[in-house]
Amino acid sequence: MTRIIDFHAHLDERWFHVPCDSPSSMVATLDRFEVEAACVFTIMGFYEDCIPHNEALLRRANEYPDRLIPFVTVDPKLGRAAVDELERCLANPRFRGIKFHPWLQAFASSMLRDTMMDILHVAAQHQVPILLHDGTPPYSTTYQVADLARWSPETTIVLGHAGSADYVSPAAQLIREIPNLYGCFCGPRPGDLEHLVALGGAEKIIFGSDFGAAGWRLLPERIDNVTEAKLTPAELDLILYGNSVRLLKLDEFLLTATASSAGGKR
Ligand SMILES: [Zn+2]
Repeated sequence: MTRIIDFHAHLDERWFHVPCDSPSSMVATLDRFEVEAACVFTIMGFYEDCIPHNEALLRRANEYPDRLIPFVTVDPKLGRAAVDELERCLANPRFRGIKFHPWLQAFASSMLRDTMMDILHVAAQHQVPILLHDGTPPYSTTYQVADLARWSPETTIVLGHAGSADYVSPAAQLIREIPNLYGCFCGPRPGDLEHLVALGGAEKIIFGSDFGAAGWRLLPERIDNVTEAKLTPAELDLILYGNSVRLLKLDEFLLTATASSAGGKR
């Protein structure tokens, strides 16, 4: 069995009235399924003021700095204030990526182009990937997310669900065409993964589970979706581990058990 990093998980106190996994129960789930680390995103930060949610996410992730990798989110509708909050968070090397959920955050990137361009450039400067939920209209179609990668070829853009159910075919095609566009395989079925790899290449597809908001069961189910696909061991290794290491620069900036020394200055 290859090593595993989960590139898409949620760490929050609650999803509205539903309590979510705590950092310790999340790490217990990672241990149980032999997953080394998970990129973790807010949930309520997509609905409410991002700043306290970025702070809370960092605090929770810092309980296990060698296992939980926080991604910052901001509200692009706020313009300059969103860019400032992004810069503030990325000054801390514990944040290794940016997450958007345009559907829940209710923004169309094309209507906020100036702010999104600033955000894309900040991400490129800090060399952190941006993962966006994709696969659902009206704001998060796979085409809309892929556009961002075309706007800023130096920024790494990740389709958060590699097309989800409805957009797998265009996702595969877009990942093939756009060098800086990747797909997080998080939702589609094993046959879809074979298609994504055949078109886009195994080095462009990253495993993610989306677990954390609704219990642990999604994690083994989604690992199975990867391992059940007819792929070579080398392809599986890239998808489950190698591509995450590359995008998160884990070789350069090691995850360490103490948050204060994690990674040093980027
Ligand atoms: Zn998610």
